[in-house]
Amino acid sequence: KPIEQLTSDEARTEVNQIKADIIKWGAEYYEQDQPSVEDFIYDQTYARLVALEAKFPELQSPDSPTQQVGGKPDSNLAKVEHEIPMLSMGDVFSVDELMEFNERVYKNTKDHLEFNLELKIDGLAVSMVYENGKFVQGSTRGNGTIGEDITKNLKMIKSVPQQLSEPLSIEVRGECYMPKEAFAKLNLQRETDGEAVFANPRNAAAGSLRQLDAQVTADRELSVFAYYVPEFEGVGVDTQSEMLARLKELGFSINENYRKVQTTDEIKAYIDYYTERRNQLEFGIDGIVEKVNDLHLQAELGNTVKVPRWEIAYKFPPEEEQTILEAIEWTV
Ligand code: NAD
Repeated sequence: KPIEQLTSDEARTEVNQIKADIIKWGAEYYEQDQPSVEDFIYDQTYARLVALEAKFPELQSPDSPTQQVGGKPDSNLAKVEHEIPMLSMGDVFSVDELMEFNERVYKNTKDHLEFNLELKIDGLAVSMVYENGKFVQGSTRGNGTIGEDITKNLKMIKSVPQQLSEPLSIEVRGECYMPKEAFAKLNLQRETDGEAVFANPRNAAAGSLRQLDAQVTADRELSVFAYYVPEFEGVGVDTQSEMLARLKELGFSINENYRKVQTTDEIKAYIDYYTERRNQLEFGIDGIVEKVNDLHLQAELGNTVKVPRWEIAYKFPPEEEQTILEAIEWTV
């Protein structure tokens, strides 16, 4: 039923039902690494909750999944507190919605704006802390404030430098992922061994990294792309695109498919390019991330309780739907 036609009681019943579903799906996805529904079902249901809460503000509450990041940290793993919270990211599902986001940012900044476009790697966020250039602590995002200690697991991953090329004391964030080929091999092996297969490379990466026994992590093929230093002053750069180049210099692996853009046409071209080629990449992506390139402006724009105001994810349509759309375009 369209939201405008709902009575307040109907809206309350629906909000409660959706919250229960999203909390259950969130636990399966973030805590057990075994989702029972496709991401686009989750995304559509979540978007409905956001719209319901906007139309019926009396139904908003701090315990809503729209106000919280991720899931509960695994009780078997030690906890790490994030001094600077690790947030989620807002998302849009069409270029029009992306342009609306850009207009809001422009209005807020009144500047001529440059964005950095990156691939949205389908993995899980990790934090890597360095002291005088030495890797000392690794953690997952967890609920954004409390994450899981995965220091010994991250030490098993080749693309996580144990020593930086300069003696900096910084926190670096990135995305841990399992390449598609390694994912296919792992699932084949699990099937042969009679174990449950992972639903997608993201869940396989999360399940392989959040392990008490770091040897399990060592036996799986995982990689990390670094993309963020919350306290960017520490690395002496002013923009996100410079940040990526700097992280590479320091010894990290970065995803090279990023592009600095200024116009809507450039943004559309990037989206089209990777929508067509996403299947040819050796790692999974579920969209494009658009970031305000100026790091000082990012800091000025700040965050909501859940998401930064300076970045947004454009999510690809689910694969089947895309194939259907392509087939329709082809026949008409
Ligand atoms: P998100 O995964 O959509 O976006 C935020 C994350 O993007 C960051 O934390 C980071 O890990 C990642 N990221 C990847 N590439 C990046 C880059 N280049 N720059 C910056 N960040 C990058 O948000 P979320 O809150 O972690 O999860 C919500 C999403 O997870 C949903 O949209 C849904 O698709 C999926 N989900 C699915 C289920 C399910 O049951 N299927 C349940 C919960 C969540």
